Amino acid sequence: MKEAVELFFFPALGMGHLLSAVEIAELLIHRDHHISITIFILTPPFDLKITSFIQSQTPERRLKFVTLPLDDSISIDPTNIPAPSMIPIDSFKPRVRECVKETIRSVRLGGFVIDMFSTAMVDVADEFGVPTYVFYTSGAAVLGFLLHMQRISLEGFRGCERDLNIPTYVNPYPAKLFPSSLLDKHGFTMFLSMSERISATKGVIVNTFLELESHAIKTLSHDPNSPPVYPVGPILNLSGPGEGSQRILEWLDEQPEGSVVFLCFGSEGYFPEEQVKEIAIALERSGQRFLWVLRRRPEKGSLIPGEYTNPKEVLPDGFLERMQGVGKVIGWAPQVAILSHPGVGGFVSHCGWNSTLESIWFGKPIAAWPIAAEQQANAFEIVKEIGIGVDLKMDYKRDFKDATKFSEMVRAEEIERGIRSVMDPLNPIRLKAKEMSDKSRSAIVEGGSSYTYVGRFIQDVFSNIN
Ligand code: UDP
Repeated sequence: MKEAVELFFFPALGMGHLLSAVEIAELLIHRDHHISITIFILTPPFDLKITSFIQSQTPERRLKFVTLPLDDSISIDPTNIPAPSMIPIDSFKPRVRECVKETIRSVRLGGFVIDMFSTAMVDVADEFGVPTYVFYTSGAAVLGFLLHMQRISLEGFRGCERDLNIPTYVNPYPAKLFPSSLLDKHGFTMFLSMSERISATKGVIVNTFLELESHAIKTLSHDPNSPPVYPVGPILNLSGPGEGSQRILEWLDEQPEGSVVFLCFGSEGYFPEEQVKEIAIALERSGQRFLWVLRRRPEKGSLIPGEYTNPKEVLPDGFLERMQGVGKVIGWAPQVAILSHPGVGGFVSHCGWNSTLESIWFGKPIAAWPIAAEQQANAFEIVKEIGIGVDLKMDYKRDFKDATKFSEMVRAEEIERGIRSVMDPLNPIRLKAKEMSDKSRSAIVEGGSSYTYVGRFIQDVFSNIN
C-alpha cells in the first residue's frame, strides 16, 4: 500500500511567491491524498499583506502553515530594505530542523520544495537525506538562462555587446535585456550560486506549460546539466476580486468589449513623478479608455508602494476631470478580475511572471514595460518568442541596488505607440493571445500536458524516497 508522505515548502518572501506555492500545494494534495504539505512562511515585521493572508486561509487537514517571523537577529535597516529575495534565511535552519525531527517521527518526509531564493534550506534537507525539489515561479526559458550562467563569467556578461545564444530561447538573446542584477558583482554571484544549487536538485517544478514554452522545456529536458523539469502550470490564484472592487468592475461593465487598456506594474511597481506625467499624457493622447493602477514610492520601512490619497498631486492639471468617463486611476487592483473582464482589450504590464500567466489565461495581449528582476527576459519572450505582446520599452530597468533609480524616462510618444499597438484590433498578437489562452486551459485539465506532468512529479517524489 502507498505510504503517506509529507512535503515541506519554502516559498520566498513576497506575496507572489507565497500565493503560487499555496496553489501548487493545493493542487498536489487534491491530486493525491497520500500527500500532506507544510508551507513555511517568512513573516517580516513590516506589512506585506502576509499576516492577513495566513489568517484568511481556511485550515485544511493536509495543508499546514508554519510562520518563520523575521526577528532582530536579522538586521534589516528599515530605511533600506533589501529585495524580498535577499533576506537571509540561514537563521531559520534550527527551527526547520526541529520541524523535520518532529515530522519524521510520524510520517515520511518526501522532500523539500524550495523557492530558488530559499536554497539555503537545501543544507537542512541534505542533513536528513531528504530530496530537494525547486518550485520555480518564473518560466522555463528564464530557468534555462539561470542554468546557462554556469557557462558564462561576470566579465562575459558585462562585456557582452552582441546578442547571446542561450539554448532555451529560439532567438538570440539581446545583451541590452540582461537583468540588471546579473551585471552587478554581488547579484551575479548570488544568482550563480542559486543556479548551481538548482542544478543539484532532484527536479524543478516550473509554473509554465508545454505549449507555451515548448522549445525551452524540450531543451531543458535534453540538457544533462538540468534536473528534470515539470511544467505544471499555469498555476494561478483566481480567487474572488476582494473588497472594494465592485466600483471598478461596474465601471468596466459599462465599457464596450475590448475597449479598455489596463495598466498595472505588479506588487512593487511605481514610477517617479515625471514618468507618471508622461504616462498620463500618453493615455490622454491615445484617446483610449483606460484603467490605470497608479501607486506611489514605498514609504520608508516598506517594500510595497503606497496608495496616493490624492493622485492629482502627481497628474497633469485637470487630467482626472478631462478623463472622466474615459478612464479611471486606481490603487491596488483586483487584477485577475480585471483581466477576466471582456471590457479589457490589452494590458500594459511590467511582465512579472504571474501577471504574464494571468494575461495569457484570459487571452489579453501585452504591451511590455518591464522594470526589474527577470522581467526584461519575460518581456523578450512575450514579444519575440511567443508573439503575444508588443515592445513598449523592453530595455527599461530599475537599478538592482537602488530601487529609486530608473534607467531613463520613457516619453509619452513611446508609451502612446505601445498603447495603440496593443489595442489595435488587427494586430496579430490578439489572435495569438487568444490561442494561447485556449492552450493554457487545455494544459491543466485531465489528459493535458500540465496535468500529466503533475502526475509524473508525484510519481517521482514517491520513487525518490530512500
Ligand atoms: N496584483 C494585483 N493587483 C495589483 C498588482 C498586482 O492583484 O494592483 C497581483 C497580480 O494579479 C499578480 C501579482 O499581484 O498575481 C503580481 O505578481 P507578478 O509575478 O506579476 O509580479 P511581482 O509583483 O512579483 O513583481
